[in-house]
Amino acid sequence: MNLTAEIICVGTELLLGDIVNTNAPFISRHLARLGIAQYHQSVVGDNHARFKELFAQAYERADIIITSGGLGPTYDDMTKEAICDFLRCKTVVNDESLSRMQEFFKLRGREMTHNNIKQAVVPEGAEVFQNDNGTAPGICVEKNGKYVIMLPGPPRELEPMFEFQVIPYLFMQPMFDDSAILSHNIRIFGIGESAVEDKLYELMTQNVNPSVAPYAKSGEVLLRVTARAETPLEAEEMMKPVINRIKECLGEYIYGIDVDSLQEVLVEKLAEKGLKIATAESCTGGLVSKRITEIPGSSAVFDCGICSYANEIKNKVLGVENEDLKKYGAVSDTVALQMAQGVLKLSGADVAVSTTGIAGPGGGTPEKPCGTVYIAAVTKNKQIVRRFMLSRGTGDERENIRHLSTMNALSMALEIIKEI
Ligand code: ATP
Repeated sequence: MNLTAEIICVGTELLLGDIVNTNAPFISRHLARLGIAQYHQSVVGDNHARFKELFAQAYERADIIITSGGLGPTYDDMTKEAICDFLRCKTVVNDESLSRMQEFFKLRGREMTHNNIKQAVVPEGAEVFQNDNGTAPGICVEKNGKYVIMLPGPPRELEPMFEFQVIPYLFMQPMFDDSAILSHNIRIFGIGESAVEDKLYELMTQNVNPSVAPYAKSGEVLLRVTARAETPLEAEEMMKPVINRIKECLGEYIYGIDVDSLQEVLVEKLAEKGLKIATAESCTGGLVSKRITEIPGSSAVFDCGICSYANEIKNKVLGVENEDLKKYGAVSDTVALQMAQGVLKLSGADVAVSTTGIAGPGGGTPEKPCGTVYIAAVTKNKQIVRRFMLSRGTGDERENIRHLSTMNALSMALEIIKEI
């Protein structure tokens, strides 16, 4: 069955831009994973009439309507009242919610005011999701085969409630009978989320089951392919052609399926091939070594890491030519290459990577602005050296640049060992 859902987020502060709506994308990601389609999603202020009008439309066109916010104790919190009004539900006080609320206030040494009782009032016969992180419980009312789910607004209350109570509850419902839901996570590095979307636009927009959902994750992209079928085998079969198509479009950028990280794959591949790696780091200050060594079993593949921040160490320990340091500067392809070759020789490893760059915020020049990074990967017979521009101009630049340099170094190490 192709189920549809619709999310309504309630809150005037969302309309004013005072807070960012994180609840809708959070719920959406889960719905996509469950193979539940969404065709509409909205935000409405704390206004009874306007909410009811919007709710009526959603109720007309979706199987599952999910609201966030407006379950609080004050007068403008009206989600539940408007829905009960619309569905003509009788209401009752949920004893467990009430006693939890009393306990909540007692623990914090605060007086529970009378209007708080309003939060424990639920439609008769409704499923109640107790709130472990706040006061307002979540509620699900089933009527005429449609499910109306009301959730509290604060993300720290909504997120665990949705993930650990609502989803399992939905799964128990007849509409999910005989269905198996399976996902595969495709890990992608070296291409941005928008470029991934551009390449896979049709696949992502036209496929509901299996669904293809992208997530941008600190410098990389994760694509989650999810299928819903009667059996797990059938779900796997449905995903195969979709995954193959993704491989055709993004082949070189995919570093693994259902893996945790670039470093995990690198350590696994090095071990498979019986190779050892060494690092020579400047701007990443040991982060590449850290990433590799955080993987259990890395001692079998990690030889050494030299954190050669000072030019003197680049020269004395790694053998980088002083003349080249002067002529090209420490942030250059020549120096990156000599650093990698130096640590390869010093350690006797089979592969080495190096990083040298300007992590900022100071130190940039017009020719080499902040974010300029050179990374080299070498083996005895092969060398790759690349210049990157890793500045995004936003957020914590220094950490971003160091993080992205590390990811690129790990990715280049993977690339160079492919042919060994
Ligand atoms: P409470 O029981 O705390 O009153 P509530 O269900 O009434 O919760 P609201 O009063 O609508 O929820 O919102 C409470 C807070 O939750 C907001 O001030 C905001 O910080 C956060 N919040 C609400 N909706 C969202 C949303 N869609 N995305 C992110 N945060 C939200």
